[in-house]
Amino acid sequence: MLKNEDRIFNNLYGFESSNLVDAKKRGDWSNTKDILQKDRNEIIEELTKSGLRGRGGAGFPTATKWSFMPKEPTGKNHYLVVNADESEPGTCKDRDIIRNEPHKLLEGCIIACKAMGANICYIYVRGEFYNERITLESALNEAYESGLVGKNACGSGVDIDIYIHHGAGAYICGEETALLESLEGKKGMPRLKPPFPATSGLYGCPTTVNNVESIAVVPTILRRGANWFSSLGRERNTGTKIFCISGHVNNPCNIEEEMGIPLKDLIEKHAGGVRGGWDNLLAVIPGGSSVPMLPKDICDTVLMDFDSLQAANSGLGTAAVIVMDKSTDLIKAISRISYFYKHESCGQCTPCREGTTWLWEMMEKMANGNARVDEIDTLLDLTKRIEGHCICALGDAAAWPVQGLIRHFRSYMEERLISTKNKILVEQ
Ligand code: SF4
Repeated sequence: MLKNEDRIFNNLYGFESSNLVDAKKRGDWSNTKDILQKDRNEIIEELTKSGLRGRGGAGFPTATKWSFMPKEPTGKNHYLVVNADESEPGTCKDRDIIRNEPHKLLEGCIIACKAMGANICYIYVRGEFYNERITLESALNEAYESGLVGKNACGSGVDIDIYIHHGAGAYICGEETALLESLEGKKGMPRLKPPFPATSGLYGCPTTVNNVESIAVVPTILRRGANWFSSLGRERNTGTKIFCISGHVNNPCNIEEEMGIPLKDLIEKHAGGVRGGWDNLLAVIPGGSSVPMLPKDICDTVLMDFDSLQAANSGLGTAAVIVMDKSTDLIKAISRISYFYKHESCGQCTPCREGTTWLWEMMEKMANGNARVDEIDTLLDLTKRIEGHCICALGDAAAWPVQGLIRHFRSYMEERLISTKNKILVEQ
């Protein structure tokens, strides 16, 4: 288990105030001026050594992403955009960071801006996070009043402004280019890439989009050093991570733990175990609703990090662990997820717009027992026609949960379809 002294988020549950005075007592803003006065390459090098990978889902190395920004001024604004549009079902970690540790995020923004040569930062907050936005705004006001943000931030000679923008509650705005469109006042529709945001992002200017947790951990990494961070977790999967555990557990919670913790330990030690005991486990979705589920026999041993879960044909995603015990109707559960993606598709590419609707309709047929067994293959074929054929990852996100269901629970589906047919015949 992660030692208390290695915890980055020591007010994750809001037992103390989120205000500046208490944040400073917890160590936030402690030597920010010294960090800001370092050369930007030095900051990026240290972050590279730490091995930090983006905490928003894709797991791309954060320092590498920052290094794509122009090295010299371009005569335009350079932007950092923080993606606080947390909407992946099962995920609620960024919400708690903003609620209870807003100063970690703001300090991270200032340092990240310095490291990538950005002069303006936008924090795009999910529409439903009204109270969280109020907390963040109050923290930002405190930071401005204390000279930590704005002109000559922290007395470092660096000028960086931060603005908070409130979204309107669309899942697709969590996709980085849709988020930029939305910030520009347009419909939140993903852009074709290239060009990538680092060359042409917000208002056509160099931009980096990072997740809240990725930015909020940066000040602590730079204060405690890359070696400390990389000593936690496993190779290529270093540091700590906030896991969100929900579903059929006795104590649903958010918990910061070391990367690579066994899934079983995570659930048993922190979430009070599976309802009815570990043997009552049916399946787990380990990284938010978009990643394929894993059956119990894989959950027995799998580790919670990017590489282990990828090797198990799933993904760490947002590290939102959704636990399903044997009372779960898996077909219905995945059908509900299919409905979500159908509803949230922006509709601009055909495989996603049409395919997500068909997926949901076919999943509903299966859930109601109105499908033939051979239609399981038709369903699988449909997912393959969506996956990889769309502008953004929402198409894949819709396909993977269905693929996970078929991969691990095909016989469960077949039995269900056959038994429903038999039941109808008997009743006739
Ligand atoms: Fe829109 Fe779906 Fe295409 Fe993404 S994959 S751009 S959500 S239609």
